[in-house]
Amino acid sequence: MISIIKKIIPTNLKDSIKSMLDRRENYTCPFCNHTSKDLMRIGYDLEVLIKKQVVGGGKRMAGCANCGSSDRDRLIYIYLKEKIKFFTNKNKGILHFAPEKYLSNKILEFGFDNYVCADYFTEGYQYPKHVLNINVLNIPFQDNTFDLVLCNHVLEHIPTDKDAMKELLRVLKVGGQAILQVPISKNSAQTYEDFSITDPKQREILFGQFDHVRIYGQDYLTRLKDAGFKVTKLNISEEFAKYGLNKDEDIFICIK
Ligand SMILES: [Zn+2]
Repeated sequence: MISIIKKIIPTNLKDSIKSMLDRRENYTCPFCNHTSKDLMRIGYDLEVLIKKQVVGGGKRMAGCANCGSSDRDRLIYIYLKEKIKFFTNKNKGILHFAPEKYLSNKILEFGFDNYVCADYFTEGYQYPKHVLNINVLNIPFQDNTFDLVLCNHVLEHIPTDKDAMKELLRVLKVGGQAILQVPISKNSAQTYEDFSITDPKQREILFGQFDHVRIYGQDYLTRLKDAGFKVTKLNISEEFAKYGLNKDEDIFICIK
């Protein structure tokens, strides 16, 4: 019996210590190459975000301690760079709404032929020639213009989100893809929206942010499909664990 215990315990202990160390020492930031044991706390908690288990928001250990990038930022970049090797051919058109700073810098650094950033506020950008004031409901480009459309954490602000999805689909090339991440409730089947609620304080309480008009549920995929996209839900957090991705955050790949 004792010999069995001797054999088993040290191995188990060794394994668990090893896996603990692996977990704690493996974070590498894909943006700034910082490596560390711990990530920084980011986000804020609201009752509704906790109750509805909202992924893509809330307080979590997810920030790079060096550059401040979030798990959300890293997910999109790693998907594009590592998973689909998007950064191998400059001859691509990209439309990027409310551009995430770190991702934007990588796109600029690589030098894609056609990179358009869209924002309501065009001031303060260090690359103004790429930035246009564009309304997502009325995009001033012809059909089938872009290979990639990035529009993350925007749709939850827009009452007529289906119209926005259709407009994003329109400017996407056939075979191109759109990445349209939103905060999404893990435990709600249905999206919760109520356009009669316009008070910022009430919106914060019910939707998790003063200017959000809904909290998406698990029907988000269907909503994207209804707008005309072919949608695949993918989770790459295990495959690319060293980049500190959120294990609950799926990526919605929307193909035209
Ligand atoms: Zn970093």
